[in-house]
Formats: sequence, C-alpha cells, structure tokens
Amino acid sequence: MRQIIILGSTGSIGSQAVEVARRFPDRIRVSAISAYSSGEILLRQALELGVERACLADEQSALAFKSAFSEAGIELYSGERGLIDMIDEAPADIALNSLVGISGLMPTLRLLKSGRNVALANKEALVTAGNIVMEQVRKSGRMIIPVDSEHSGLFQCIRGENSEDIRRLILTASGGAFRDLSLDELEKVTVSQALSHPTWSMGRKVTVDSATLMNKGLEVIEAHYLFEIPYESIDVTLHRESVVHAMVEMKDGSVLAQMSVPDMRIPIQFALLYPERESCPASYLSLVEYGSLTFEPIDTNRYPCLRLARYAGVSGMTYPAAMNAADEVAVTAFLDERIKFTDIPLIVESVLEKHKPLPGLSVDEIMEADAQAQSAACAVVEKLAGKG
Ligand code: MG
Repeated sequence: MRQIIILGSTGSIGSQAVEVARRFPDRIRVSAISAYSSGEILLRQALELGVERACLADEQSALAFKSAFSEAGIELYSGERGLIDMIDEAPADIALNSLVGISGLMPTLRLLKSGRNVALANKEALVTAGNIVMEQVRKSGRMIIPVDSEHSGLFQCIRGENSEDIRRLILTASGGAFRDLSLDELEKVTVSQALSHPTWSMGRKVTVDSATLMNKGLEVIEAHYLFEIPYESIDVTLHRESVVHAMVEMKDGSVLAQMSVPDMRIPIQFALLYPERESCPASYLSLVEYGSLTFEPIDTNRYPCLRLARYAGVSGMTYPAAMNAADEVAVTAFLDERIKFTDIPLIVESVLEKHKPLPGLSVDEIMEADAQAQSAACAVVEKLAGKG
C-alpha cells in the first residue's frame, strides 16, 4: 500500500488526484491533505478518504473549521508552519504538491529532505529555486515525478535513455485562448475570454499564463532544471491539438514523442502510481479521429512573455524568481480588471529590467527577490491602472 500526501487537494489538480486515490483504494492510502482556505471541501475530502491529518494554510479558515475537524477526529494543522509539521508527521512515500505559487517551494524542499518522492505540479518551486530544489533531490536520493503534462511526457520519453544521447527537448504549446487574435484585438480581450482555454481545463492563473505563453516560459525553465538540459536545446512548438505533449530528439535523429488526449488525469495517475500503470477513465487516443496534427513556429511578437521567460532563465540567479513574482502580480491585476491583457508582459519586462539580482543560492535570497519584485510590479500596476 502506497501512502500519499496531497497538498492543494481542493484545486484543479488536487481534486483530480483525490479522484485517482478513490479509484485505487487498495493501492493508495491518502494520509494527509491540505488546502488554502476551502475548509468545507477539505473536510468532505478528509472524511471520504479517511485521512487522519489535514491542513488549512489560511489561519483564519483553520480557526473557523477547527471544531468541525476535531469532531470528525481529524487533526487540523494551520498556517505555513502547520503545513511543514504535517509533512513531518504524516506517514507517506510520495506527496503530490499542487500548491499554487511560491508557497510550494518550502514544502517541496521539506518533502525531499524527509525522504519522500514528490509528484510535482507546483511550477514555482523549480522556476524560482531550481538549483536549490535539484540540489536537495541529489542530497536526498529521492525523485521528482513531474505532473505537468509536458514534463510528464518528457519524463516518460527519457526513461531508460542516457542523458548524453539527448540532443533537444521540444515542448508543445496550444497557444492558449487568443492564438488566433490579431495583436490589435489582444488589447481589448476580457477576463472571461482569457479564461476559456481551447484544449485544457485548469485553474485561473495557469489559464491566463497559457494565453500569454508565460506558462510555456515557466515550463522551459522547469525542464531546464529537471532534465539538466541547456536552454538553447529546449524548443517550443505551437501545436493546437494538445495531443503530443512533448518530444525528445536523440542524437541519432530519433524523435520520441508522448501523446494522449488532453486530460490531466493521465499524468496525475502516472505520477501517483509510478512506475506502475493502470487503466484510466480518460479516453484512449484515436489519431485517426484527429486525422491530422499541426505544428507551427511560435511568433514571439505575439507572445513576449515567452521571450522574457527565456531571458530570465538564461540570466539565472534570482531573475526567474523576480519574473515569476512580477507575472503573478500582473495576472492578478488583470483578473481584477485593473490592467489590460497586453500590460502583463510590460509589467514583467519592467520588473526584470530593474531587478538587482542575488545569487539565489538560499531560500532567503529567493524570498527576498520575490518580495522585491512583487512590490516593484505593484508600483507598475498602479501606474498603468491610474492611466486607464
Ligand atoms: Mg503544461
């Protein structure tokens, strides 16, 4: 019986992971779950799964739900500190980390340090602190099994290959909600338009990031650290159908591709059951039904965020952390209808230009860069919002 912790169990990825656990009750036992503030859903999940431990990261919510959890005989942890305590105390072989934002960093490091494998859906841990996280992977001898569809694809292709034989990684991008709009039209898009993704159903932040292609930029940085491949050997291709998730070009010219229908249950289940496979309720892929698959180059004029992310990745140090923080502030401001969609890359660029980098070798430095970039981004948002 495999024991797992699910961090962020009420979100899009987390709730699908709960569904996987419920489908394999004799294979997976969930020992602990966490959410930010959705106490009601968390309690319902805890009862369904029979977990002994749960955590609400938002202390106000934890206070409000304290007695309900205690009546159910479930130990409730609260706050960021409580989350770390729960990680230390819950029995687990593997943890799914689907926390949103940089709050996923410390739990990732703690999980590895305490000898657990991490099924990683949180992008920010590797983006902001890739060197620190991979150092912890090496020290602990544990592994990261990526959950993001592209990285799960790369991971599956690369299994059993020698890393020296890999020539190039290719990530595919659907192009997001606005892939067919003109640059003029992009100026006027609304929040609800940005939130309707053509092929994937996901959380709000990642859906907007998919429309700007910042999501793909973050994924390039993740792939760089996870697979130790230089940036110039990681390409991105526009692939509208989201059927080929990633490709690996080997030095002999063979290209390995991982394909499936776009359904996150496949990579989530793969990570939780790794290295075993089981059938999954997602549909099987019929290439004949698709008839044809298309691949196009990316127009970086349309998608300045992808260029900025590459710039931040290549610059290293705390540039990726600063970029991530700036993007988070910018996307929030867009979702709050304070800025235009096309302001998002302007904010990121302005923060990167002014960023005073730190070496980024400690979590403290990463957090400092994050805080500085957040306040710099807020200042730019104020300026842009004031103009409107
Ligand atoms: Mg992805």
